[in-house]
Amino acid sequence: MTHAACDHDHHHDHALDSNGIEARLAEAQALCLAAGERMTAPRLRTLELVLAHNGPIKAYDLIDRFHPEGAAKPPTVYRSLSFLEQMGLIHRIESLNAFVACHDHTESHSAAFLLCECCGKSEEVALNLSGITQKALESDFKVERVTIEAKGRCKACR
Ligand SMILES: [Zn+2]
Ligand SMILES: [Zn+2]
Ligand SMILES: [Zn+2]
Repeated sequence: MTHAACDHDHHHDHALDSNGIEARLAEAQALCLAAGERMTAPRLRTLELVLAHNGPIKAYDLIDRFHPEGAAKPPTVYRSLSFLEQMGLIHRIESLNAFVACHDHTESHSAAFLLCECCGKSEEVALNLSGITQKALESDFKVERVTIEAKGRCKACR
């Protein structure tokens, strides 16, 4: 990752350790089971890579890292990503075309992100969207998802 106009170190202390990742994978499997969906090996591996990455990760990086011995077939990864997104286990950050693990597994919540343009860190925050929900209702518009992306600098990067 390249950092424009940044002369400080980036500390990556918010990454999950392997126990944390194991716990999150077990949670995801339970969630799929409860929903009557299958957490296949490729889906699980994709989620593991997203969880292990510190910050938003792009599909081609997931494809590259998929197997220790080489890249995955792209459709395998794209299909897994879309399944995980539907299950609410990951979010797509549209402006970066990258994915992050969801830290709040309540069904179909709307995601809002604070994105640091310096270190690439993303933080998911809960947001009250009653304003836009009300406007959509008035326009008889069926909202399927709302993603809010706020860009700027995290505390460490200012
Ligand atoms: Zn989320
Ligand atoms: Zn930062
Ligand atoms: Zn920085």
